[in-house]
Amino acid sequence: MQSLPPESPARLLARLVVESMLDKSRNVYGKYVLMKDVLQREFGLEAVGVGEIVECRRLIRARATGELEADQNITMLFHGTVVEKGIREELNLRKGDLAFRRVGNYLLFGSSDALLNIGDMQLPVEIKSSMSFTLPRDSHFLQCSLYAFLYRVPYGILMFLSRKFRIYVVPAVDEQTVTRLLSMWKELCPLFVEECKHCPLRKLGRCSGGDRDLNKRSWLYNLTLSLRRASAEVIIDRDFVRDVTQEVFRERNKGT
Ligand code: SF4
Repeated sequence: MQSLPPESPARLLARLVVESMLDKSRNVYGKYVLMKDVLQREFGLEAVGVGEIVECRRLIRARATGELEADQNITMLFHGTVVEKGIREELNLRKGDLAFRRVGNYLLFGSSDALLNIGDMQLPVEIKSSMSFTLPRDSHFLQCSLYAFLYRVPYGILMFLSRKFRIYVVPAVDEQTVTRLLSMWKELCPLFVEECKHCPLRKLGRCSGGDRDLNKRSWLYNLTLSLRRASAEVIIDRDFVRDVTQEVFRERNKGT
């Protein structure tokens, strides 16, 4: 019988997963920071990615430069990537194109997780998942709404997979709101203080957290609350599947 290599198969697989996620994370964030710098040089405008508005920019830089070698969020990154890819493939959606939109002295850019054709519109889709939260966070609604603004369509689609699969149709924010949001973003890092709770840099003792003054953020919380309230929601649970199945059978029977 052949003896096992010093590294057991399970350990080898775990190491491959971790290495691939760290590479992916460095690549994605590295390209992002590079693109931002090139855009800034070429257009003389401050380039801001949609993701950067809702995530902490200090954390983004740390991931891009490799400062964050032992990323403690590896399970979360892996989970997010697998879910995003799986939903895109299952629903036969393609990745969103890179888009740009000038807002005052800023150049907003980004590409959504997917695009969904509805009538003659192509709506951006933001795919989120969580192993611990049952509802999407405020930042998820805002990010989805910002993509709709960026793609110049009235709505974005937020898909959230937790214990249930929830789909929201989120209205786009207007230009005035984005202008105000960008000036707030410039002043506060991160915009959403929840980011600091699970931040790997904080756990490693390399950052003590951002500005926690909630008063400064009251406008932002009102904005996200209004987006949440204005978003139509569909929950795909067992009842929903049963209702849709019955509807499909009814339609089929009509045709026979
Ligand atoms: S602790 Fe907060 S401010 Fe510091 S890097 Fe993490 S998310 Fe950003």
